[in-house]
Amino acid sequence: MPKKFDVLVNNSWCKGCWLCVNICPKKVLDPDEVRGKSVPARVEDCIGCRQCENICPDLAITVNEKGEGNNA
Ligand code: SF4
Ligand code: SF4
Repeated sequence: MPKKFDVLVNNSWCKGCWLCVNICPKKVLDPDEVRGKSVPARVEDCIGCRQCENICPDLAITVNEKGEGNNA
Protein backbone atom coordinates (compact mmCIF):
# COMPACT_ATOMS: atom_id res chain seq x y z
CA MET A 1 0.00 0.00 0.00
CA PRO A 2 1.43 3.41 -0.93
CA LYS A 3 2.32 5.79 1.85
CA LYS A 4 -0.10 8.55 2.67
CA PHE A 5 0.81 12.06 3.64
CA ASP A 6 -0.75 15.07 5.27
CA VAL A 7 0.09 18.45 3.76
CA LEU A 8 -0.63 21.37 6.05
CA VAL A 9 -0.47 25.04 5.13
CA ASN A 10 -0.20 27.58 7.92
CA ASN A 11 -2.49 30.34 6.70
CA SER A 12 -0.94 32.84 9.08
CA TRP A 13 2.42 32.47 7.37
CA CYS A 14 1.51 31.76 3.74
CA LYS A 15 1.83 34.90 1.61
CA GLY A 16 0.64 33.42 -1.66
CA CYS A 17 3.90 33.39 -3.61
CA TRP A 18 2.87 30.09 -5.29
CA LEU A 19 6.38 28.63 -5.22
CA CYS A 20 4.95 25.47 -3.68
CA VAL A 21 2.10 25.34 -6.18
CA ASN A 22 4.53 25.52 -9.07
CA ILE A 23 7.11 23.07 -7.76
CA CYS A 24 4.82 20.24 -6.69
CA PRO A 25 5.23 17.41 -9.21
CA LYS A 26 1.81 16.01 -8.36
CA LYS A 27 -0.16 19.27 -8.45
CA VAL A 28 -1.36 18.71 -4.89
CA LEU A 29 -1.57 22.42 -4.08
CA ASP A 30 -3.98 24.92 -5.57
CA PRO A 31 -3.63 28.69 -5.40
CA ASP A 32 -6.55 30.44 -3.73
CA GLU A 33 -6.19 33.74 -5.53
CA VAL A 34 -8.92 35.40 -3.49
CA ARG A 35 -7.44 34.64 -0.10
CA GLY A 36 -3.83 34.57 -1.34
CA LYS A 37 -3.24 31.20 0.30
CA SER A 38 -2.01 27.86 -0.96
CA VAL A 39 -4.57 25.09 -0.54
CA PRO A 40 -3.72 21.36 -0.30
CA ALA A 41 -6.50 20.30 -2.64
CA ARG A 42 -5.33 16.81 -3.59
CA VAL A 43 -3.41 15.44 -0.61
CA GLU A 44 -4.25 11.90 -1.73
CA ASP A 45 -1.83 12.43 -4.64
CA CYS A 46 1.07 13.59 -2.45
CA ILE A 47 4.21 11.41 -2.72
CA GLY A 48 5.95 13.03 0.24
CA CYS A 49 8.86 14.51 -1.73
CA ARG A 50 8.79 17.59 0.54
CA GLN A 51 9.79 19.97 -2.25
CA CYS A 52 6.94 22.27 -1.22
CA GLU A 53 8.12 22.26 2.39
CA ASN A 54 11.69 22.98 1.36
CA ILE A 55 10.96 25.77 -1.10
CA CYS A 56 8.54 27.76 1.04
CA PRO A 57 10.37 30.92 2.15
CA ASP A 58 8.01 31.33 5.08
CA LEU A 59 8.11 27.79 6.49
CA ALA A 60 4.36 27.69 6.05
CA ILE A 61 4.12 24.08 4.81
CA THR A 62 4.46 20.90 6.82
CA VAL A 63 4.40 17.44 5.24
CA ASN A 64 3.85 14.49 7.55
CA GLU A 65 3.60 10.81 6.82
CA LYS A 66 0.28 9.57 8.11
CA GLY A 67 0.36 7.17 10.99
CA GLU A 68 3.97 7.94 11.87
CA GLY A 69 3.04 9.46 15.17
CA ASN A 70 5.99 11.81 15.26
CA ASN A 71 6.92 15.28 14.04
CA ALA A 72 9.43 14.26 11.39
S1 SF4 B 1 5.57 28.63 -0.89
FE1 SF4 B 1 4.85 29.06 1.20
S2 SF4 B 1 4.28 31.23 1.18
FE2 SF4 B 1 4.46 30.58 -0.95
S3 SF4 B 1 2.34 30.00 -1.52
FE3 SF4 B 1 3.40 28.14 -0.80
S4 SF4 B 1 2.87 27.99 1.39
FE4 SF4 B 1 2.43 30.07 0.73
S1 SF4 C 1 5.50 16.76 -0.59
FE1 SF4 C 1 5.89 16.78 -2.83
S2 SF4 C 1 4.08 15.79 -3.72
FE2 SF4 C 1 3.54 16.35 -1.62
S3 SF4 C 1 2.54 18.37 -1.80
FE3 SF4 C 1 4.73 18.72 -1.38
S4 SF4 C 1 5.71 18.96 -3.39
FE4 SF4 C 1 3.69 18.01 -3.70
